[in-house]
Amino acid sequence: MNIILLGPPGAGKGTQAQRLEVERGMKQLSTGDMLRHAVANRTPAGRQAEDIMSQGKLVPDEIVTALIDEALDRPDTLGGVIFDGFPRTEAQAVALDALLDTRGMKLNHVIELVVDEQELADRVSGRYSCAECGAGYHDRNKQPKVAGVCDVCGSREFSRRADDSAELVVKRVAEYRAKTAPIIPYYENKGVLAHVDGMAGMDEVYTAISRVLDRA
Ligand code: AMP
Repeated sequence: MNIILLGPPGAGKGTQAQRLEVERGMKQLSTGDMLRHAVANRTPAGRQAEDIMSQGKLVPDEIVTALIDEALDRPDTLGGVIFDGFPRTEAQAVALDALLDTRGMKLNHVIELVVDEQELADRVSGRYSCAECGAGYHDRNKQPKVAGVCDVCGSREFSRRADDSAELVVKRVAEYRAKTAPIIPYYENKGVLAHVDGMAGMDEVYTAISRVLDRA
């Protein structure tokens, strides 16, 4: 099964995708993670993306589409894919259809996590992750069980994303509203769109997503 998680920064896409990976054996494909990796490794794509990302803007469609194209050829996607942060423009949505078509893959569900935009800056600026394994945490909503130690891998190193500042979140949400929200009708017309209340607790959101995925 292949799905898209749609929603603005801070909607909970990454958190839910990580849990779907663990519990359903699906593969999270986060273009944000891929781009951060490319930036850290100074690849040509990373060098092009770095400045754009630091301004909270969208990286050109060709760059992210190429990253997804490459990722879909890896065997770890055979158990199904969760697209997280992709597509973000109509051109990307059209490109994704073509990438799936050529591989005989189907898009089963597009789940929009509906959130209150007022809350986003607060949610995003409180989040951090394990520098070793990437497990996600939050200052208020999700602290490690033992303070300062990652629940998953035991590392004591954590990091915060440079673009999670309150100032940049406003810009990223504006990009979402201008360029990504307009693709929602594209999926509504295909009959694959479902809405989930992203303001509910993490477990409830996961249950609501599961209900959509288990629908016949
Ligand atoms: P994310 O981790 O999904 O919040 O993405 C972080 C940043 O990476 C975004 O603010 C964009 O600059 C860039 N980015 C991630 N995914 C895409 C995409 N599908 N299209 C364009 N830019 C993207």
